[in-house]
Amino acid sequence: MSKHVPDPTPATLLPSVGDIVDDTTGLLRADGELTPGQGTITTTLALSLGFLSFMGVLAFLFPQYLTTPELRKAYNVDWCRALLFGGLLVSGTLSLFNIVFNRRRNVNIIAFAFVLVTIALGGSTVPVGDFPDHTPYLGMDWLVLDLLGSTTVFVILEKLFPLYKNQPIFRKEWQTDLVHFGVNHLLVGLMLLIVNFVIHRAQLIVVGEEGLQQFIGNIPFLPQLLLCLLVADLAEYAVHRAYHEVPWLWRIHSVHHSVETLDWLAGSRLHMVEILVTRIAVLTPLFLLGFDKSVVDMYIVIVGFQAVFNHANVHLPWGPLKYLIVTPDFHHWHHSSEKVAIDKNYAAHFAFIDYFFGTAVKTDRQFPEKYGVVGSRIPDGYLKQQVYPFAKK
Ligand SMILES: [Zn+2]
Ligand SMILES: [Zn+2]
Repeated sequence: MSKHVPDPTPATLLPSVGDIVDDTTGLLRADGELTPGQGTITTTLALSLGFLSFMGVLAFLFPQYLTTPELRKAYNVDWCRALLFGGLLVSGTLSLFNIVFNRRRNVNIIAFAFVLVTIALGGSTVPVGDFPDHTPYLGMDWLVLDLLGSTTVFVILEKLFPLYKNQPIFRKEWQTDLVHFGVNHLLVGLMLLIVNFVIHRAQLIVVGEEGLQQFIGNIPFLPQLLLCLLVADLAEYAVHRAYHEVPWLWRIHSVHHSVETLDWLAGSRLHMVEILVTRIAVLTPLFLLGFDKSVVDMYIVIVGFQAVFNHANVHLPWGPLKYLIVTPDFHHWHHSSEKVAIDKNYAAHFAFIDYFFGTAVKTDRQFPEKYGVVGSRIPDGYLKQQVYPFAKK
């Protein structure tokens, strides 16, 4: 990456721990284009896969604390073992090659150490025993699998159909958004617990209309899913608009708007309070109206995809579809700091909602030129952003 300074001294057999740490943190702090030929690309790959493999083996070793019950039912453990084996093989080969040929040797020592520790802990053949359910857990498996899957899918999409061709994968402040991504995934269990608790309370207070619930539950899958998306998006629209128009709510939501380079990872930048409030506000009506579980599950998959995709650095020829559904073009305008775009394009699934309420951006230009928040300066860094809305002005 551009800011990295190569090792000034010739390689010795035993590098100091200080140098190893300095070089690795130097790489992690850097941003910019990955220039081929210096070993940076293979080093980044080796370090990422080495660390993901290490997290993967921990999830296998302590499934009761590090796996997500809802997700665990959906994936095949043997595939995950094969994935872990592949990760170790690629990371081990690349890091060893780089150590031998002295290409970013110190960082590759860390990558290779992750591989060795992972193998020592059992590697891809680590036994996974039975374990009790209902333990407090971190969604480590969810983090590893989603990070691997999303990075692969979206980096390919962003390279094939880029909106901004020269935007590097490791763009400015990628580290902050990766921490948001990591924490949001690890705390998935805690968030589900809070959201379910509130929805359960709401169901007790507002007893759903049984006739209506039965009617909705009996609608065939596809039209029921479309209705579910519409109800969810109307709730999302209302909450999102409130976040923009009520000053103290805006302080919370402005964290999401503080990112100035949009890509698939940028959508993860959300204040914890916003994640909880939005989920509760959107899921409560879905449960009160009696949507079928299979429909709500599919809705969760769609909202998960669209929340990431709408921020991606991707441009596709949407044609008239852009008036119907929310595309990256539509949501990119929502993040613009240009006057024409302020407090516009709130919807998350259906663009026509904003056209209906008169809040769609009106412009002939296809894309905005400037992104971010007008006026206030929101700090960079995960913890600073969590504190920001509650700090004194
Ligand atoms: Zn917004
Ligand atoms: Zn956004």
